[in-house]
Amino acid sequence: MAKKINNCIKCGSDDIRVHDCGYSSFNCGSAKCRNCGNEKKVNYNEGIDDVIDSWNKYSPTVKVHIERLHKRIVGYKKNIKDTKEEITKYTRIFMEEEYK
Ligand SMILES: [Zn+2]
Repeated sequence: MAKKINNCIKCGSDDIRVHDCGYSSFNCGSAKCRNCGNEKKVNYNEGIDDVIDSWNKYSPTVKVHIERLHKRIVGYKKNIKDTKEEITKYTRIFMEEEYK
């Protein structure tokens, strides 16, 4: 039985065409959404299951996608906080230099 394939991360469709070329080495293949054309090419794959794994990594479930976006937001917030602290620090140094 084939592995479960995730829906398309761009349009949500579950109509995903998966194929591999069937070569024993340098196998080519891809997973492509039939609704919106979103495609993940998977060269040098080990067969259909490998193509599905790559697609699922590329097109995670909505829950996993939201978790990843949330992590990115947390990262951005930290960068903003660090940048603000750095600006404050260098502004202070600048002001001290100016009014010596
Ligand atoms: Zn799609």
